[in-house]
Amino acid sequence: MTTPGHDAGRYRAAHLHQPNGWLSPGYLEIDAAGTIVAVGADRPPGWTDGEVRRLDGYVVPGMANLHSHAHQRGMAGRVEGVPGGAGRDDFWSWRTRMYAFVAALGPDQLQAIAAQAYLEMLRAGFTAVGEFHYLHHDRDGRPYANPAELSGRIAAAADEVGIALTLLPALYTQGGIGKPPADAQRRFVHVDLDAFLRLVERLLVGATDNPLRRVGVAPHSLRAVSPEQLAHLTAAMAEVAPAAPIHIHVAEQVGEVEECLAGLGARPIEWLLANAPVGPRWTLIHATHCTVAERRGIAASGATVGLCPITEANLGDGLFPLPGYHRDGGAWGIGTDSNVAIGLAEELRTLEYGQRLHHRRRNVLVTAGSATTEHPGRLLFDLAVSGGARAIDQPMGTIRPGMRADLVELDPEAAPLTGHEPRTVLDGWVFGAGGGVVRNVMVAGTWVVRDGHHPQEDAVLERFRTAVRSL
Ligand SMILES: [Zn+2]
Repeated sequence: MTTPGHDAGRYRAAHLHQPNGWLSPGYLEIDAAGTIVAVGADRPPGWTDGEVRRLDGYVVPGMANLHSHAHQRGMAGRVEGVPGGAGRDDFWSWRTRMYAFVAALGPDQLQAIAAQAYLEMLRAGFTAVGEFHYLHHDRDGRPYANPAELSGRIAAAADEVGIALTLLPALYTQGGIGKPPADAQRRFVHVDLDAFLRLVERLLVGATDNPLRRVGVAPHSLRAVSPEQLAHLTAAMAEVAPAAPIHIHVAEQVGEVEECLAGLGARPIEWLLANAPVGPRWTLIHATHCTVAERRGIAASGATVGLCPITEANLGDGLFPLPGYHRDGGAWGIGTDSNVAIGLAEELRTLEYGQRLHHRRRNVLVTAGSATTEHPGRLLFDLAVSGGARAIDQPMGTIRPGMRADLVELDPEAAPLTGHEPRTVLDGWVFGAGGGVVRNVMVAGTWVVRDGHHPQEDAVLERFRTAVRSL
């Protein structure tokens, strides 16, 4: 476990990211609680040479990964190829294979796989993760003696490697609209909504006094939760934790849109906007199949869209109408979702390239005339970093006083950044590919990655190998 504020003190960054550009150099001070207490362009009076630590790279805010299913890291690349005899492979056949993988997973294996996933996230530049956690029960579908056993393992994995965590226990009660759960879903299902709410309350209590922990809820989807249960859950959360984030998968697949039209008489986003108290605390994961009216409705509601570009590409989901949503002023962030690959620059690159391929032009979101909007690397990073932080309710996403000191230092000598200046350096990161860009990563005032390495990476990888080989 890491101690917040371990590397507290005074820093001079050669280039410090700010919402309106860069400070070159920029000065910042971090207190013993791991909070940023001062930021400025000038060295404050009284700071002596000996005490100021120098960072000679580009320092940007840590990114929030707003949507993860950590256990799926253990099946990366293992469910490619068309299953024997099947004519095609799609989201639904992928899901069947994912269920088979989940059926065997025990608590130790879950923790080992999650620790590896979280460590890789840190090395990529994510300093917090929103874990949409639906695996609750033992292999036979019965609750563990401690009903929070697997949520606890997720939290333990995050603590081990030092990433901030927003735990989003998922409510899952049915196998499709109006359908009983399938046997393969037995580990996810809460028949008793009150038991689920007791789990949430227990997790909320466990997060008190932990500066890296937040707790919200995730009604899994309109397929997995009935309208009555969704209403009950949102009303209960308004009582116990009114500021807590609420995440839901929505409109990822055309099949889901059709099921919703047949079962609820409306498209999933349309139904949600009309029937649930969707607002700034809400994050709609995917929202892929979205009409113009739905797109405008999400933006107007103040909710965040959780885009998971690599997973959406891997699963053949489709493309979210990002340019229009951007013009509407809608908020969004990024998630690594299935964790088939874990990369920050890679998520933003995949997002941008999907839009370029679809619209057959380059630079689909940028606006000329401003240093923060005319380059796609910078624009995509800034939008994702602010939307993501808000979606998982973590005090991060901007380098300013009062925020937690979650920082990422990019190596100015890395090949993709060579020849860049502050104005274009994030284009180098997002589009230049190649490794070695993320040099140091700080969470709450403690360096958890130094020179690209995490102190526990060998041990965590060894446990991951053992866990995955046993499955
Ligand atoms: Zn998901």
